[in-house]
Amino acid sequence: MLKLKKRIATIGSHSALQILKGAQDEGFETICVCEKKRTAPYKMFPVADEIIEIDSFKNFLKVEKELIKRDAIVIPHGSFVEYLGPKKIQQLKVPHYGNKKILDWESDRVKQQEWLTQAKIKMPKIFEKPEEIDRPVIVKFHGARGGRGYFLANSTEEFYKKIAKHPDEKFTIQEYVVGVPIYVHYFYSRLTGELEIMGFDKRYESNADSIGRVAAADQITTNLQTSYTIVGNIPLVVRESLLPYFIKIGQRVIEESQKLEPPGLFGPFCLEGIVTSDLVLTVFEISARIVAGTNPYVAGSPYTFFKYNEPMSTGRRIARDIKMAIEQNRMDKVFN
Ligand code: ADP
Repeated sequence: MLKLKKRIATIGSHSALQILKGAQDEGFETICVCEKKRTAPYKMFPVADEIIEIDSFKNFLKVEKELIKRDAIVIPHGSFVEYLGPKKIQQLKVPHYGNKKILDWESDRVKQQEWLTQAKIKMPKIFEKPEEIDRPVIVKFHGARGGRGYFLANSTEEFYKKIAKHPDEKFTIQEYVVGVPIYVHYFYSRLTGELEIMGFDKRYESNADSIGRVAAADQITTNLQTSYTIVGNIPLVVRESLLPYFIKIGQRVIEESQKLEPPGLFGPFCLEGIVTSDLVLTVFEISARIVAGTNPYVAGSPYTFFKYNEPMSTGRRIARDIKMAIEQNRMDKVFN
């Protein structure tokens, strides 16, 4: 395969295996920037042509010059956004795939709410004050942290009792929505102008996904508390009759982002929510970058197979977008 001059780089965590493998499949050389203690998977699986070791992901900016010298393009993912934070990402000089400014909208709860509300997406009620709690709520700590420490409360009193264990944390109190959790993976390309559904997943969370193995009577006597620590992702296919709905809401999110932060959201994104029994998705979060729920689909999902007839992961789709931009000399459509 013809080797492309530019390289694709990301940090070793989250969906790096998929991103790097997808980039290799599209003809790019790849770089994994990795904490010394986390290199094992990137040595075991040959997806990185080069591994640059750093002491801490927080020091990513120290290797930026190296990446620029190697003509690298950085692909953001969940851990990348978490470790660098939106401010440092804005300062990056190395080319970065996607609209950096959108990450501000994603990481700010108020902005996220404005965006999704204007796109007419249903969201769970937010309780500004604990005193307002009048139904089951889920209390979430700020920053993507894979559900760790989140707890449920049924009243103001219960909230205060449980929050006492987290004295210095910033949190959000959200209505607890009963239904099935579902993560919708999308991709929007500015080169083709098309929105694609890449797949769906549900998460495997400890201990929420095993509470049902304990009888209700035992749950009470053992004083079990539900937690939502993410352990893995489970692939999912939705009822075909729901697809028009998921396509429509994805399009509204893109259109609204184009008004709020031109040129808008592009590349991979994910709506994360609960489908209630009336078949409406109540979205509790949007991710404006690749999500780890795409990892089961390294060799493509049922949906990407319809379109591509070849293994097409979200990581590979990103690399293809960049390759297309290079070939068409339209690089402004993949960075900004
Ligand atoms: P993080 O962004 O830290 O990974 P999420 O916001 O995705 O965490 O929430 C973690 C889990 O908590 C979800 O997978 C879901 O099971 C549950 N959850 C989150 N928000 C709600 C909600 N409003 N109602 C019901 N369950 C929720």
